[in-house]
Amino acid sequence: MFGAVVVFIGPPGVGKGTQAAKLSEAYAIPKFATGDLLREALKNGTPLGLEAKKFMDAGHLVPDDIVLSLIREKIQAIPQSSGFILDGFPRTTAQARSLDDILKKMCHNVSLALEFVMDEEDRIRRLSGRRICPQCQRTYHVSFAPPKKDMVCDSDGTALVQRTDDDEKVIRQRSAVYWGATNPLLSYYRDRGILKTVDASKPIDSVLTDIRNLFDQMK
Ligand code: ADP
Ligand code: ADP
Repeated sequence: MFGAVVVFIGPPGVGKGTQAAKLSEAYAIPKFATGDLLREALKNGTPLGLEAKKFMDAGHLVPDDIVLSLIREKIQAIPQSSGFILDGFPRTTAQARSLDDILKKMCHNVSLALEFVMDEEDRIRRLSGRRICPQCQRTYHVSFAPPKKDMVCDSDGTALVQRTDDDEKVIRQRSAVYWGATNPLLSYYRDRGILKTVDASKPIDSVLTDIRNLFDQMK
């Protein structure tokens, strides 16, 4: 059993969600993406989801209290010995401190922060081909990860859609937020000696192999 807590860090489109899904399956560990939790809250019409929508549509960070209220209960429900992956959380140093507090109470701590690195313009081009299943949030790509049947989800047959925030203007805004608010997290984890990087420009399966090698060193 893989018992480490791993945090994925990187700007939109580097492939965090894609790898989190594959690793979650390969190691039989949970993964949580705050973006998915927020989109799900919105789909269910909850007050938190509706409040978050205006920030997400504009490409801004959703306030910490909303994000924390969604992620806290997910983390606290995990058995102590199980590892898990966090994708898209924490996104600020304040969120990283809150995560440390939550984990401390569970006698756990972040073991690895993984930075996904790739060229900016390639990443933005990659994002324009992203499609998601609005039902189960599974992610596809028109060229690099197409569904088996034309533009419907492999799991539930729902028609795939483009995320409303995957338009170029909002993508650039989200990238700016990353470089401003999230990038400082790298020094937070580097100072603790738990930051590693992965070359996210490689094909999906090569990135997966590289991360599996890192995970296997930690087991
Ligand atoms: P991507 O995978 O493209 O990086 P996400 O699905 O992770 O995008 O996030 C989509 C949006 O959800 C973000 O632009 C932001 O508005 C909100 N969001 C997700 N995670 C967080 C977080 N940890 N803190 C604040 N806002 C968040
Ligand atoms: P993030 O969660 O970091 O925002 P995603 O995992 O959603 O990124 O990936 C963004 C898009 O790029 C998706 O359409 C995904 O299918 C595709 N993708 C992910 N990793 C790769 C890769 N290594 N090579 C090519 N396309 C990729």
